[in-house]
Amino acid sequence: MARVKIEVEGFQCERCEHKWVPRGSDDEPAVCPKCKSPYWNKPRVRKIKKK
Ligand SMILES: [Zn+2]
Repeated sequence: MARVKIEVEGFQCERCEHKWVPRGSDDEPAVCPKCKSPYWNKPRVRKIKKK
């Protein structure tokens, strides 16, 4: 068996940039496992400021 690169789909936290691979279910996790933020999948920038 040759060595192959296996890519799996995972999540990345918008807050702390932590990446992880979900186990078990296909559901999106409620919180980031590292920083525990429930807004891990929501971008931090909501306001657009113009200079
Ligand atoms: Zn996080």
